[in-house]
Amino acid sequence: MALIVQKFGGSSVADAESIKRVAKRIVQTKKAGNDVVVAVSAMGDTTDELVDLAHSVTPIPAGRELDMLLTAGERISMALLAMAIKSLGVEASSYTGSQAGMLTDAQHGKARIVDVTPKRVREALDAGHVAIVAGFQGFNRTTGEITTLGRGGSDTTAVALAAALDADVCEIYTDVDGIFTADPRVVPKAKKVDRITSEEMLELAASGAKVLYIRAVEYARRHGVTLHVRSSFSNAEGTIVYNPAEGETVEEPIITGIAGDLSEGKITVVGVPDTPGKAAEIFTIVARAGANIDMIVQNVSASNGRTDISFTLPKDQGQSVLTALGVSQSDIGFEGIQYDDQIGKLALVGAGMRTNAGVSAALFRALHEASINIEMISTSEIRISVVTRADTLNEAMRVVHNAFGLDADSEAVVYAGTGR
Ligand code: ADP
Ligand code: ASP
Ligand code: MG
Repeated sequence: MALIVQKFGGSSVADAESIKRVAKRIVQTKKAGNDVVVAVSAMGDTTDELVDLAHSVTPIPAGRELDMLLTAGERISMALLAMAIKSLGVEASSYTGSQAGMLTDAQHGKARIVDVTPKRVREALDAGHVAIVAGFQGFNRTTGEITTLGRGGSDTTAVALAAALDADVCEIYTDVDGIFTADPRVVPKAKKVDRITSEEMLELAASGAKVLYIRAVEYARRHGVTLHVRSSFSNAEGTIVYNPAEGETVEEPIITGIAGDLSEGKITVVGVPDTPGKAAEIFTIVARAGANIDMIVQNVSASNGRTDISFTLPKDQGQSVLTALGVSQSDIGFEGIQYDDQIGKLALVGAGMRTNAGVSAALFRALHEASINIEMISTSEIRISVVTRADTLNEAMRVVHNAFGLDADSEAVVYAGTGR
């Protein structure tokens, strides 16, 4: 008998019919002789709708209250799913994150899992039940408060349960057939990948491929959990995300995939005195504002002994960083700040880049041929990222996908979801 953790994303449980369809699938797995633990997301776009609702009540909702509100989404789907399974003659019980022992730190909105104590889940399994756990939520012991794990966090719930229960498989069910060489909603000719290393998946997730939440990939990598990302709308085999064993030779495509990100903005600090210590002052302030900056570019010093420094950061952190820098303008001595929220970021990822020259040149050529201007560039060992205008990003993704020979012969299937 195997222990299988299955996670169903919002688009897989968007309405009553979908919940019944997913329930059948879970019952099949159970009847095949497996123990089944399910992590479930809120129905459809419920979380987005609840966020909108909160913002229609107040511009800056309190973190604690927002978590209380958002966790209600998963509570609805877990209970409905358990009911649907029971109606098929299989015992099922639903558990909130705190009942399932998802212990986190105290940060509202982006809590990290610190321990998993799934006693009640085990008891349910021992009693022959399917255990359904609300995704995306946890509990902090010190504050006694309910937390959420960050958008997309139900993936982490599933991986953490799989690690804690020593599951045989962790299946992530979504609205596409697996992990593709690019988002199939943007690049219709994206190709499904059969296997991908967790290292490459981390880079794709960090670069905007929301098919897996980055923290779930990190958690899986740290705890040696193998993931199977697949569609809840078909029986096709999906994509295996794995950690190569020490010394294992991995076939490394030069380019595994590309990702696009429209969620970032760019801040340029203009006329910074070109003297030692100024970058440190600026980025200390940025760090104190809690921003996760990504690319940084410093221009060549102008003849007046001043320079410009640009960096990218998530748009939702833009305002607080602008305010924090503004307060210190005269202390640091820069001339002004500009904010640009119309940027797009494209990332090309592949472990084979390490040993292949010319990838950057081919990327820049493809963009040039499509008359797409590059505004910033950064590279890591297995990734090259460029910033373009937001309205050219999707076109950039398609031309780069084609230029690197990644196009499939036919178009990818997107089964459901609104892409929100
Ligand atoms: P779920 O609700 O199941 O968690 P998400 O919307 O979070 O689903 O993630 C699935 C979506 O991720 C797909 O519908 C697709 O548009 C998007 N996506 C982005 N990049 C990729 C990629 N490389 N491969 C597959 N899907 C991707
Ligand atoms: N419902 C949450 C969200 O939309 C968590 C998840 O679906 O993974 O972000
Ligand atoms: Mg998701």
